Amino acid sequence: MLTHQEEHGAHRFACDAMHGGLARWLRAAGYDATWSYGIDDGVLLQQAEQESRIVVTSDSGILLRRCVTQGRVTVQFVPRGLSVDHQLAHVAFELGLTRRDPRCMKCGGALCTVPKESVVGEAPPKAYAWVDQFWRCSRCAALLWRGTHWLEIERRLAAAMPRSAT
Ligand SMILES: [Zn+2]
Repeated sequence: MLTHQEEHGAHRFACDAMHGGLARWLRAAGYDATWSYGIDDGVLLQQAEQESRIVVTSDSGILLRRCVTQGRVTVQFVPRGLSVDHQLAHVAFELGLTRRDPRCMKCGGALCTVPKESVVGEAPPKAYAWVDQFWRCSRCAALLWRGTHWLEIERRLAAAMPRSAT
């Protein structure tokens, strides 16, 4: 139910209070997604309108809000009872999303590669021994690398949505 024309790949999301898990996975797939604990629907809709974000919700009541019926806010409805993987697949299918470069799952910040030498003593010794590429979140400074945890995330992402051709 897209009421605005979205440039391909430009989707930004505002997830409702129920969808913190999906927000993390949208970020892993490369999309800017906000989520706040306990966020009120009114605040959520206001934020979405101001920042041109698509509201992600399973609350059909939101579809009746004036800003939505008037087309000022776009809503992507997610059926209830889906696993987070299936929620992601649903949104990806509905909006034609492809996987992009991952963003930080914690905060949605962009990831920048950092020289391996710079993380000695910070990265766990095992990761430092096995992995050559490290990234740091430009927003929360979290250090990331392609360990078994990230490979598992990539496997689940690949099952949920296609990789971008670019
Ligand atoms: Zn971050």
